[in-house]
Amino acid sequence: MIFHVLTIFPEFFQGPFAHGVVKRAGEAGLLEIRIHNLRDWTLDRHKTVDDRPFGGGEGMVLKAEPIFQAVESIWPERRPGQRVVLLSAQGRLFEQRMANGFANEPELLLICGRYEGVDERVAEHLADHEISIGNYVLSGGELAAAVVVDAVARLLPGVLGNESSAAFESFQDTGHGQGLLDCPHWTRPADFRGWKAPQVLLNGNHEQIRQFRQQAARDKTTRLRPDLLLIRGQATKPPNSSQGESGTRIHPEPYGKIED
Ligand code: SAH
Repeated sequence: MIFHVLTIFPEFFQGPFAHGVVKRAGEAGLLEIRIHNLRDWTLDRHKTVDDRPFGGGEGMVLKAEPIFQAVESIWPERRPGQRVVLLSAQGRLFEQRMANGFANEPELLLICGRYEGVDERVAEHLADHEISIGNYVLSGGELAAAVVVDAVARLLPGVLGNESSAAFESFQDTGHGQGLLDCPHWTRPADFRGWKAPQVLLNGNHEQIRQFRQQAARDKTTRLRPDLLLIRGQATKPPNSSQGESGTRIHPEPYGKIED
């Protein structure tokens, strides 16, 4: 898969893609990330990418022309599998389902806004998707673009060591939580400062382990993300409820009492 990122800070991406899964996937030729400097598509001496907002007010707005020019020169004839994403605080909330969808496309182009945002004609007439990574305002779309690339990259075939491991994670229908959160994980030592890993995970009984993980995933979702259960119409009373009246956790009891 090819990711294009359009930004006024190309050097920003030297960090985020230079580690771990994404770096290895790039080296293995499973994905390619092309960073494009928006200023390369400006025509004036000062390489101006922004201007004052019509109607007055604070700040500057990224101009439409260089962004259209850039996309039209990266993809002179845009084909269906070439999606343009505008990162924006006003966009639809990015979630796993969208990442799954993007992972099936051959190419994705991410436009990073800055300042007060981007001329609205980019959202209206150029971008296929306007996407936010959360209900907060960042100072630029670069971090958001890196989040989208990372979330999509790890879904590409062959990128994770174990082909199916992405399928078992939080928010995936195929995961231990069946669309909810992933189950919690433990590793050695089995006893750390007196806090024990659940005994069932040590006994090698795969069916018991599967059932335990499914329940632990549900319990954790109920505790931390009841909204996910509501969305799926699966809301129930929290297990061994450790929530205070106000919803504040007083003393968490991890996944029921597990005897060793
Ligand atoms: N004036 C805008 C915020 C502009 S922030 C507003 O109030 O909605 C500048 C740029 O940062 C945006 O154009 C966008 O590309 C990026 N950005 C900010 N918050 C974001 C978020 N939650 N998700 C994705 N991109 C975001």
